[in-house]
Amino acid sequence: MFAQELVLKQRTEILHALCSSGSAEHLERVLDVLLAQGELIWEEYQNIQVPGRALYNKARQLLDVVYTKGVNTCALFLAALKQVLPDAQEANLSLSGYCLNLEGKEENQSTSTQTLLAHRPSLVSRLQGCINGTLQTLVETGHFTSADCDEVKLPIHTPTQQARCLLDHVRAKGESAAAVVLQYIEQTQESGSSLNQERLTPSKEFQTYQKKLSSSVSAQSCFLSTYGGTSHMSLDDIYTEGQLELAHACTDVHGPLNLEDIVGTAGTVNKEADTVLLSGEAGSGKSTLLQRLHLLWARGAALQDFHLLFPFSCRRLNSEQRELSVQELLFQHCCWPDREQEEIFQFILDHPHLILFTFDGLDELKQGFSDEQRLCCPIQRAPVHVLLFNLIQGSLMKGVIKVVTSRPEAVGPTLKKHLRKEVLLKGFSPSGIDCFVRKHHSDSSVAAKVLQSLQTNTALLGLCHSPVLCWIVSQCHKELLGCGEGSPQTITDVYLMILQHFFQHQSPLKSTKRLGWLQENLQTVLHLGQLAFEGIETTCYVFSAKDLESCGVIEKDIGMGFLIQSRDMSFTDSIRYEFFHVTMQCFFAALYLVLSSTTDRSAISKLFELKDMRETSLSSVCFSACLASKDQNEAASEEDPTATEIPNLQITATFVSGLLSNRHQGLWLHCCSSSITEKKVRQVARCLSKGMQQHFKSIPQPVPGEKKSMHAMPGFVWLIKCIYEMQESRIAKEAMSKLEVDHLKLTYCNIGPVECTALAYVLQHLRNPVGLQLDNNSVGDVGVEQLLPCMHICNSLYLRNNNITDEGIRKLIAKGIQCENFCKIALFNNNLTDACTQHFAALLKNKQDFLSLRLGNNNITAEGAKQLAEGLKVNRSLKHLGLWGNRIGDAGAEALANALENSESLLWLSLVGNGVGSAGACALAKIIRNSTSLEELWLTENCITKTGVECLIQALQHNTHVKSVWLRNNGLSLEEVEEMTQREPRLIF
Ligand code: ADP
Repeated sequence: MFAQELVLKQRTEILHALCSSGSAEHLERVLDVLLAQGELIWEEYQNIQVPGRALYNKARQLLDVVYTKGVNTCALFLAALKQVLPDAQEANLSLSGYCLNLEGKEENQSTSTQTLLAHRPSLVSRLQGCINGTLQTLVETGHFTSADCDEVKLPIHTPTQQARCLLDHVRAKGESAAAVVLQYIEQTQESGSSLNQERLTPSKEFQTYQKKLSSSVSAQSCFLSTYGGTSHMSLDDIYTEGQLELAHACTDVHGPLNLEDIVGTAGTVNKEADTVLLSGEAGSGKSTLLQRLHLLWARGAALQDFHLLFPFSCRRLNSEQRELSVQELLFQHCCWPDREQEEIFQFILDHPHLILFTFDGLDELKQGFSDEQRLCCPIQRAPVHVLLFNLIQGSLMKGVIKVVTSRPEAVGPTLKKHLRKEVLLKGFSPSGIDCFVRKHHSDSSVAAKVLQSLQTNTALLGLCHSPVLCWIVSQCHKELLGCGEGSPQTITDVYLMILQHFFQHQSPLKSTKRLGWLQENLQTVLHLGQLAFEGIETTCYVFSAKDLESCGVIEKDIGMGFLIQSRDMSFTDSIRYEFFHVTMQCFFAALYLVLSSTTDRSAISKLFELKDMRETSLSSVCFSACLASKDQNEAASEEDPTATEIPNLQITATFVSGLLSNRHQGLWLHCCSSSITEKKVRQVARCLSKGMQQHFKSIPQPVPGEKKSMHAMPGFVWLIKCIYEMQESRIAKEAMSKLEVDHLKLTYCNIGPVECTALAYVLQHLRNPVGLQLDNNSVGDVGVEQLLPCMHICNSLYLRNNNITDEGIRKLIAKGIQCENFCKIALFNNNLTDACTQHFAALLKNKQDFLSLRLGNNNITAEGAKQLAEGLKVNRSLKHLGLWGNRIGDAGAEALANALENSESLLWLSLVGNGVGSAGACALAKIIRNSTSLEELWLTENCITKTGVECLIQALQHNTHVKSVWLRNNGLSLEEVEEMTQREPRLIF
């Protein structure tokens, strides 16, 4: 097959191979080769590398250019692909036989600029080690300004991108700059000095310490602690990739991040700062991910730029009472150097960029982050939290990268301003769940059964996006597969399942009658519950023998598996315990609140009044009143409460709601007085209703002419989740009866499938239809399915940037067609392809009141546009159609034009950035000519030339209601633009 056909035939696979990693590196290396070979001219290169353009779009443009250039360019392109792609990716493409000589062409190198171009691929790699030196030389010789240097060294650039950017700038500066660069590289190569970063030969003592530290880190990280109470599971066997994303959109990073990107430069927002925040909900896998990083480092499999890695757990640092210096903190809490402590510490001070600190669970530190107390001296002693805060803000050990994990709710603006970047851990993807379950069960038939049962219970499948819940569900597979109808629906159901599982696991013979298991183990639950409850109240997650004793926890209770031995690297002889996960501690605290008869009567309402507590800074004092047995003075003298406590209190409250649900009343029958339980149920219902009212009160009155809109405040989604846990539609109905808004905005609210289930459960009771705006969350296909029960109440659904695929759309539209109110949808920036357009066509055919369809920045081609046209042809209502940033090309534009030519409803059409040329524009002119409704046509960033614009001008002469046709960034010269604007002022260039 000819190279040209191969490029066309394998287009999808090539795009995938070039872009699926999310990194631009493969594409840019191919571009280097094509430039070096003279197959791409500079202008073509610049047209592809438009700043801010999505990676896939750049790759598509390259493919278009290569294809149009013919068979030779295609052959060279395939050869370049073969060289650039890793073996595995290359194996999925047919590239054999394309191995050309990829060295630069000698005959093209009469000037230095040409030499730079012809040797671009090797120069990019050679420059990486000496960017600074080259920049300095360019500045000294007057070729570069400091602004040029800043641009090259932008933190979002990877080292290879810095090298490319430098070469591109040099080219723009001319021949003399190019000569300086060549000369500099030649010299440094000869002396061998700076091409690779400084070479260090650490002392023998240092190397011994390095070994000791890595074997200690390896030992600490090779097993997963959740399994401690039941079985050992090595991290290697069970580790499953979670979904990592940057918290701030970054034009240069597309697609998922990998583990090493956490400490890499990708997505840096503040290059002065050293601290990377890894944030995620409880159980999303933050500790496990750090554990994985530690293990890979200790084994020499990752992060090898760092000579030393010091891991810390904030929950363990809580128990450090002494004042320490940084040196003592490192050596006493991580690894003690047997000799030459001073020399080793000096090495650390001298080479901060070779050192990495990790702090797990900043939200579990007793003290909330503050940057008020400054400390600069690494040998000065201070309380551990002061050290930690100074390390994070960089006044101590500047230059050492610190990775800190926390739950998002616990991160305030003071901490945010010291962050280099924030990375979000969003739990498992659907394929991650599949992978985890298969790893968990060595028996593949059991894994298949668990997965099948998850498919039939999508609420539970949604919960499994949280790794800790996925673990519980896998662990309790026997209970899960045996329970048929009563399969768990809520988080509380899942935790009750593991409670029962652990009890029955420890004493399988004793468990006799149904529901008896709780009664049998009531004392254990109360002891552990009290321990958990007091711990939550005092921000204590690691318990001494004395703590256990004071709550009556005995050996038998420990043996149940909920408590595990704390892995503490510091010098403490006594064994300490912690709950295997913080959510388990919250669950026991909730059990205690429900079962105990000694807690204060107002304990429950105080638990739900978190918001007030935060505002009045009284949480410790309020919450301590819950505990009748607690010494009030002691509690009141605790540190001031901080936002760090809120997440645990919220989780506890969510469990309290779930445990007091009608469905679980049977469990408490023989464990506590039913009149007290009923009272608690009423209290919870009252608190939830009151909490909701407070949110509704905050809704501002609409500006006249605008819709009444509510932007969810923090805590709104939590209340919704509590209501869902109760599983009582009466409460949901009551809560929603007073909400009167036209638009409900829940953007950037961390909404995943679990939250979608709860939202749909509650929102379906709204009295009037709303616009539901869920942009920039992690809804995904599973979440979309969860939202279906509330579709009938949504008139508009905004799901921009939510990782939704064609499969999610299939289900959404099947339901949407049946919903009378549903008339607008926005799906910008998801993963949609041509396969979804048939569903939209069906929607348009079946709903003659549908108003707005926005599908920008997806992967829709001419085929998709043709399918869509089938629906548009018969639809009489659509007003807005947005297809910005797809690839429908001329053929797609023609299909749409034929379908919309006589439209009497369409007001606004956007085909920005779709590879539409003059043929497409001439076809679209038919809509202008014939449609009686169109007002705006957006054709910016296409490749329309004069011929196409002529057609548009002629059509506009017959039309007075079109207000503007946008044509910026098309293939027209300045003179043409000027002339045409004069002829038709409605054309906007
Ligand atoms: P977090 O620190 O966010 O609260 P953890 O890392 O403690 O969450 O995860 C809780 C549990 O979930 C772990 O003990 C483990 O059983 C499971 N888990 C989390 N992440 C992963 C992962 N990437 N692979 C396998 N299991 C995981």
